[in-house]
Amino acid sequence: MPPSAMTDFNAVLKVGLEIHVELATRSKMFSSAPNVAHPDYFDAEPNTLCDPVVLGMPGVLPVINKQAVEMSILVGLALNCKIAKRTKWDRKSYYYPDLPKNYQISQYDQPLCYEGHLDIPLASPASHSDAQPTKTIRIIRAHLEEDAGKLLHEAPGGYAIDHSIVDLNRAGTPLLEIVTYPDFDSAEQVVTFCQMLRNICRSLGVTEGIMQKGHIRFEPNINVIIERKGEFFKTPIAEIKNLNSFKSVFGAINYEFTRQIEVWQETGKVMKARAKSTRGWDDNTGTTFLQREKEDADDYRYFPDPDLVPVEVSDQWLESIRAKLPELPLARERRYIDSLGIGPKEAAIIVDDVQLTRFFEAVLAAGVEPRRGVAVLLNNLAKRANEKGVHIDQLGIKPGQIKTIVDMTARNEISSAGADQLYSLCCEDPAAEPAKLAESKGLLQVSDDGALDAWVDEAIAGNAKSVEAVKAGKEAAIGALVGAVMKLSKGKANPKSIGDKLRKKLLG
Ligand code: MN
Repeated sequence: MPPSAMTDFNAVLKVGLEIHVELATRSKMFSSAPNVAHPDYFDAEPNTLCDPVVLGMPGVLPVINKQAVEMSILVGLALNCKIAKRTKWDRKSYYYPDLPKNYQISQYDQPLCYEGHLDIPLASPASHSDAQPTKTIRIIRAHLEEDAGKLLHEAPGGYAIDHSIVDLNRAGTPLLEIVTYPDFDSAEQVVTFCQMLRNICRSLGVTEGIMQKGHIRFEPNINVIIERKGEFFKTPIAEIKNLNSFKSVFGAINYEFTRQIEVWQETGKVMKARAKSTRGWDDNTGTTFLQREKEDADDYRYFPDPDLVPVEVSDQWLESIRAKLPELPLARERRYIDSLGIGPKEAAIIVDDVQLTRFFEAVLAAGVEPRRGVAVLLNNLAKRANEKGVHIDQLGIKPGQIKTIVDMTARNEISSAGADQLYSLCCEDPAAEPAKLAESKGLLQVSDDGALDAWVDEAIAGNAKSVEAVKAGKEAAIGALVGAVMKLSKGKANPKSIGDKLRKKLLG
């Protein structure tokens, strides 16, 4: 916490967030060129996802991507925002080599979504149960715009070049910018929010949310409120640009907290209205560095784009979008705990991963009892997925196979070790029938009483010492007898029924 223990002041961190989310529509925000944020085009060659609109050729006309608007409204609803009945498009003018038009189409004074909030859990993220304290983070707005291209300072493959090159595949990708109030007072809170937001966006299906691809980028605005002898000082705000990992968000905020206090101690410099410095983050050194310092806020000469019509959101359209709103991660987690009886830790693991959630829901739909399903996923299958370096839903095994194996285990037809083997075999062969597999691999347990009784009698006859021990009250000695029966049955007897039979015969 603050380095105030040895000092005469108290320092409180203050952070607001801007988040850019690339929407995974098939085509771009204002043209039919394919969108690099859509999985079909992730690996497109540089500068192949372009058309005259993206390149900003004279005389082209942009056309609004309706799906991008709907996806944005979905996110807005999930963040408890109000949705504008009417919204328009504005040109934000600036020059940069990755921006062919010399302006970005954005939304200035009439954002599509506004005045929302998201409650984040304050304590351990492993559980979001009702008892846990939460904090409300207010959302100022969420508006739709287009992404810029990308400047590269080395050639693809990492070769050094003495100039910069541009890839415009990303230019024109639909971009949702979400802005919060400065309601955070710790880096932990910010990271919790970022993770929740990513999870929400992924569960809404509006983005793949792959951080390394820059699908979601965070820009914290950070300063520190210092109190000394009843007097308050605010350090100048620094905005850290384009963070695309939770680790860098966490590192940058904590680094700034210390740095800003140190600078204040040295210079006494405090915040000025409309002034803000922009800083970058160096992952290697774990430090931020100054990019530019401005005494005045940017003047982007915003004005309404004359080529685009305003968007009118009718009640009917809004309701049809609201109807598509799926269960959100936090509500799902509560339902798993409260209605399905799943443990808080397990529920959090499943809900925090959209792919795992979908697979788990499919397993439930196949009729598997929820707690059994969780155990199969997090024990049997997680182990295998780890070994293979794939995701659980990519193992190949089908929910129907899981249901059959769970049922066979419940009926004592197979042992738990046999079940584990069957899960493996089904991962290799998603078309296999578990019952036939169990038979052909000799995994079926013998539950025929006649056969079991014969083995039990043989074991009792051949292990006098253990028998005496059991009769003398040494319960643990029964294990040796069970082992003897298992050997006689070549592992096909059910250990639990054998134990029961032995107890009945020896102890009455
Ligand atoms: Mn923006």
